[in-house]
Amino acid sequence: MDACVILTYRCNSKCSMCYVWQNPTSVKYEVSLKTLEKIPSGIDYLNLTGGEPTLRKDLAEIVDLLYPKAMTLEISSNGLHAERLEPIIKKYPCIKIRFSVEGCAATSNKIRGEKDGYEKKMKGLLRLKELGGTDLGISMVIQDDNAREAVELFRFANKHGFEFATSSLHNGFQFHKSDNIPYNRSETAANMGELINEMLKGFNVKNWFRAYLNLGLMSKVLGQSRMLKCAAGTDFAFVDPWSDVYACNVRPDLKAGNLENQTWDEIWNSEAAGVIKEKVSGCDHNCWMVGSAKTAMRNPKYVKLPKAGPLFWVIYNKLRIMLGGEINFKRYIDFDNVYCDTKVPQRSFFMNETVRRKIQLKSDVHYQRFGKFYNR
Ligand code: SF4
Repeated sequence: MDACVILTYRCNSKCSMCYVWQNPTSVKYEVSLKTLEKIPSGIDYLNLTGGEPTLRKDLAEIVDLLYPKAMTLEISSNGLHAERLEPIIKKYPCIKIRFSVEGCAATSNKIRGEKDGYEKKMKGLLRLKELGGTDLGISMVIQDDNAREAVELFRFANKHGFEFATSSLHNGFQFHKSDNIPYNRSETAANMGELINEMLKGFNVKNWFRAYLNLGLMSKVLGQSRMLKCAAGTDFAFVDPWSDVYACNVRPDLKAGNLENQTWDEIWNSEAAGVIKEKVSGCDHNCWMVGSAKTAMRNPKYVKLPKAGPLFWVIYNKLRIMLGGEINFKRYIDFDNVYCDTKVPQRSFFMNETVRRKIQLKSDVHYQRFGKFYNR
């Protein structure tokens, strides 16, 4: 099973696609070490994220506790405080660390509302590499404002030996907003096509499978159905800062239990968990997020290997490119069937804005639907 733990909703970025930073958690209610101890050993892939996980003063202790429980432990950070990860990388050089970068400097800083953020992240990544980090990389949320810079950022990552992960703009209950919808689906998808080609050209096997993942993103961006069945609630779980456990981070009605008050087994053997699995099997959201898509691509029996579909796609298209051909995207994607949104509002940017932050109380209803949303 894969899991994602949101350690905090405090954040020092001001992203345009996620308003968590406007709705922080209070330190005293954030998921404790005692609760995290209940996460069982044998997790395939465990992602520690936020908000911004480096704002947790006990992050090093959390890593000490969870590192042995997972085959792969990732910290997803905005990279503004890379120095806080230095002791962790010295102790665990193989830990996976990803910094969020949304394109070239000006674009990334604008989208993420970070003054000098890009520069800090790059300096931080190079420093972590110097300290011995072996699995460092960049994560990019592909959207209209940065899609044309994806190939350049990918090349930059390659040049420095960094990994390059992508997701696409989507809505989810924790974002406190519901307008994460592409403005121009066809143009964004075309840019993704270039990235897919570029990923298959090189000799990094991980990038070949990322190419497949991006094919799924391309299909999602165009509003077509997901390429593999969603495995949320069965092979993927999401723990929020109040220790609530959900099948995914999109639908707030998929809550299975609370890890502070229940054990992991009690949650997954509960009636609520059964109901959730049913809901997931009939879910009509068209999600293709790194967490759930990667889980869906994995062979259920041999977790280090992919399923047959993605494997054959990779072999076939890598060979085509090696032989001087091109990917025939039309074979996989129906470009004449692009979902037409009703009017999409312009998203706001907050780089130089002062915005009042409202701490979410424990007694609050944390995830109302912030306007109707649906992921196409
Ligand atoms: S498809 Fe449904 S269950 Fe799966 S991640 Fe999306 S909203 Fe959640």
